[in-house]
Amino acid sequence: MSIDFTSHYLMTIDGQPTDSGRHLEVINPANEDVIARVPDATREQLDAAVAAARQAFPSWAATPLAERQALVSAISEKILQNLEGFAQLLTREQGKTLDYARYEIGGSAAWFGEFAKMAPSEIIIEDTPEHLVKTRHVPIGVVGAIVPWNFPVLLAVWKLAPALIAGNTIVLKPSPFTPLTALKLGELINQVLPAGVVNVVSGGDDLGPWISAHPDIDKVSFTGSTATGRRVMESGSRNLKRLTLELGGNDAAIVLPDVDIEETAQKLFWGAFSNSAQFCLAIKRLYIHEDIYDPLSKALVAYARTVKVGDGAAADSQLGPVQNAVQFERLKNLLADVRNNDQQILLGGEVLQGKGYFFPLTIVDNPPEDSRIVVEEPFGPILPLLKYRTVDEAIERANASEYGLGGSVWGKDLAQAEAVAQRLQTGKVWINEIHVLTPYTPFGGHKQSGVGVENGSDGLHEYTNAQTISIRRK
Ligand code: NAD
Repeated sequence: MSIDFTSHYLMTIDGQPTDSGRHLEVINPANEDVIARVPDATREQLDAAVAAARQAFPSWAATPLAERQALVSAISEKILQNLEGFAQLLTREQGKTLDYARYEIGGSAAWFGEFAKMAPSEIIIEDTPEHLVKTRHVPIGVVGAIVPWNFPVLLAVWKLAPALIAGNTIVLKPSPFTPLTALKLGELINQVLPAGVVNVVSGGDDLGPWISAHPDIDKVSFTGSTATGRRVMESGSRNLKRLTLELGGNDAAIVLPDVDIEETAQKLFWGAFSNSAQFCLAIKRLYIHEDIYDPLSKALVAYARTVKVGDGAAADSQLGPVQNAVQFERLKNLLADVRNNDQQILLGGEVLQGKGYFFPLTIVDNPPEDSRIVVEEPFGPILPLLKYRTVDEAIERANASEYGLGGSVWGKDLAQAEAVAQRLQTGKVWINEIHVLTPYTPFGGHKQSGVGVENGSDGLHEYTNAQTISIRRK
């Protein structure tokens, strides 16, 4: 059955398209038009979704792995068949450019496709004539998946694909800012999987806390801010939920003095500003060696001036607006702080009046290390450049953060770059590249950036409980 991406944004509960008596508006951030109304789930509807997932669990968990893999692979195929519809809708609700939206949807299909080839492990610990000990991985039960608005489809798929392969059933909750693509994903998945295996509910500020405290949800996989992650952990303690928390970041890039300036400037630009810098793994603090600070900052600014910001649906836009009014106001507030403290702005800094949440690409020149723009996670297109003298100093400053999500090192001497990378207190470090993510590569934050990992076999096992069987043969 084909999917109509232009209307009928309904929840999927126990295989049924489900509306609610109350609704939330969804806004296109490029022009602030209301583009749709979506169900605002009641507590009873969430309970029904959880009950459906609970009821579907035993037979889904007992479905042979090869069958589950084939169904997950079929979801991948179906997303590919609907790639353009999803991408257009994603641009309308999220603001990102169409090319980038296509990339997110293509990536989502690829993630389902690759996870369909994975399997939870079974390890033989001891195998002697007297004794056999093995550990296998069994599904946990009902998973609550809570996702943010920056990559509404891909980040949902990072949870759905491993949870399904491991044999769990799911209740997915998108952000109230970007529910449309997730609701359509629920509709699509419902054409492939048995009723109740994947339920999708949309709603307002109550819905997330209801999920994270729900007594019949066994695990929550959450992606969002560190502040909310703390609340999820607290309410999850009531029934000792398993938790995967993918939280905020304040990623540092350290640029060593031997880089090629022009080439690196472009890579750094996209490392910082892709998705209008609404990227947990965006470069948010750019440490540049003093010997190359001036030429590199000039090259960065010159390149940034060539980049077109506009409505993501327009063919010539390279970056879109920020996603929502709250985020827009937060960025304006950070910018005011930069100005009030007389920090130098090398690019941007003027927010124009008009429709849409368009924040100018802004680069701040070497602000103090304790300024808000350095310490906080802006999650939008405003980037501080920071000058350093010694590598030890750069590493110390990079690590002086409560966050520990990602980071990057840029330099021609790979041994030196790797030595720097090993000293960064983060879950991910790239050298001379950035944002290379695969279904096979575990990813997760250190410190206040998270608990657990997503992706790879480590990520798959986060959706399982280990069970050890010990057999006395004689
Ligand atoms: P957020 O924490 O405000 O919201 C995330 C999700 O949680 C939304 O669906 C929201 O409705 C829900 N929610 C809100 N309050 C809740 C509560 N008390 N209990 C349960 N759920 C609740 O985050 P956001 O503004 O949507 O996203 C931006 C943040 O997400 C940034 O900090 C960014 O770094 C982070 N992020 C992290 C990763 C990662 O993989 N580490 C990826 C993307 C974004």
